[in-house]
Amino acid sequence: MDCLFCKIIEGSIPSQKVYEDDAVYAFRDINPMAPVHVLLVPKTHIPSMDGVTAENSAAVARIFEAIPKAAAAEGLTNGYRVISNCGDDACQTVKHLHFHLLGGRKLPDRMA
Ligand code: 5GP
Ligand code: ZN
Repeated sequence: MDCLFCKIIEGSIPSQKVYEDDAVYAFRDINPMAPVHVLLVPKTHIPSMDGVTAENSAAVARIFEAIPKAAAAEGLTNGYRVISNCGDDACQTVKHLHFHLLGGRKLPDRMA
């Protein structure tokens, strides 16, 4: 499958790992929008939030368990924001479900 994040997970495209377990891979965004900008992805390919079902939602739960660990590893003691862009209106560019973890400064109070 021609998926950028699947290639990053398997290691054929290099990335800066922040956290990893059997279900989740977390790495630095190549174009950071904040002092800390990490992407968390399920190791199984799910195209977007729209592809989450009762059958695969355990992988999403594992990401939410990993978020506080990645945030702690990055020193985000004063809070952070988690975003997932889904589909064209949200400008999703990589079609493998991912969660942006942003922090390290006061973020804009406008979300969109
Ligand atoms: P989206 O716009 O789909 O929500 O987010 C995709 C994110 O992937 C963007 O923030 C973009 O900077 C990041 N990205 C795109 N290509 C690469 C890459 O090759 N390596 C890394 N680490 N991040 C990437
Ligand atoms: Zn993928």
